[in-house]
Amino acid sequence: MDRKLFDKYVLKTYNRFPVTLVKGRGMKVWDDKGNEYLDFFPGWGAGNLGHCHPKVVAAVCNQIENILHVPNVYYNEPQGELAKLIIENSIDGQVFFCNSGAEANEGAIKLVRKRNPHKKVIITLKNSFHGRTIATVAATGQSDYQKGFEPLPRGFEYCEVNNVDMLKSMMTDKVAAVMFEPILGEGGIVPVTPEFMTAARQLCDDYDALLILDEVQTGIGRTGKLFAYQHFGIEPDVLTMAKSLGGGIPIGAFAVKRDYCDILQPGSHGSTFGGNPVACAAGVAVLEAIAAENLLANAAKMGNYLRKQLTALKAEYDIVKEVRGIGLMLGMELTVPGVDIVRECRKQNVLLNCTHKTVLRLMPAINVTADIIDRVVAVIDEALKGATA
Ligand SMILES: *Cc1c(COP(=O)(O)O)cnc(C)c1O
Repeated sequence: MDRKLFDKYVLKTYNRFPVTLVKGRGMKVWDDKGNEYLDFFPGWGAGNLGHCHPKVVAAVCNQIENILHVPNVYYNEPQGELAKLIIENSIDGQVFFCNSGAEANEGAIKLVRKRNPHKKVIITLKNSFHGRTIATVAATGQSDYQKGFEPLPRGFEYCEVNNVDMLKSMMTDKVAAVMFEPILGEGGIVPVTPEFMTAARQLCDDYDALLILDEVQTGIGRTGKLFAYQHFGIEPDVLTMAKSLGGGIPIGAFAVKRDYCDILQPGSHGSTFGGNPVACAAGVAVLEAIAAENLLANAAKMGNYLRKQLTALKAEYDIVKEVRGIGLMLGMELTVPGVDIVRECRKQNVLLNCTHKTVLRLMPAINVTADIIDRVVAVIDEALKGATA
């Protein structure tokens, strides 16, 4: 493929690796030169089932034979089916469909702002990530993502992760919602503590504010539960999701508890492609595959296994500072830049990610097996050895 086309015609909003991916199956991807890689960060968090899961491919092929798109002033079957599956497996209420994580969060923000004219403040976390639209950039508590785009929408305030006292001090009657990720993903794989989660839920109840959980990255089985909040014994009022929901097809959604289903009325919010039948058919196939293949249990089990292997590397190398995460959303914090390790692993045909500069992010498909984990950990081991020498 001619990469010069990118230089000439594609806006440079990404630094691209010098690799052109042309095919994917399960844990594996191939580039245009026929090189095979093990992908431990498939789809930037959108590949919980790996590449081209056969049930997703079949569902998409079946749907595209019938109708590609249905405007939302008509009914379409896959949208209703996917909404039912989401609600039966999360909070009791209803779903709005859109096309991305940012759009899901944007809709959640609009919903909580519309609920009460006297409550407009939304508390989010420092080092969070909620998307690239102008409101979700304002919600994102990292100035790097905001610089240059001012003026930003007002009303967002940032609390330190896991600082219950700070959250308490920020709560007022003006707070519409508290919004955060159960595990900060782009913020360096930082899980929220059970104490913080419980306190946030209680404070929202005390101040009549809504709890929005952004599960765009943590959702769809990633942590060993369908949604990460299910580890914490609480429920959010609004739950946003995207990334892996479509098994590789773009889709976003938010679920909202029954009490708040009347806030958005016909005409008050929408999305042309939201709930597209091809995307929803893919989503149904994803959720059905997770259930049929027992993948939540596998994510928990393989998560423990991978964590054990990574923790063993920590004992071996001083440059490994901490291993953390839940299920198969794991981070290995280093004392050195992670990009060098990622590059070395790519040379050995293993694809990883580094987030927050020093955190290796390991998010393999949740149907990963122990022998694949062993192969990848051996490559990381070599890369760490090289960086230490
Ligand atoms: C990726 C991500 C988003 C944004 O999703 P897009 O589909 O890129 O808009 C929002 N929140 C979290 C937690 C994410 O990881």
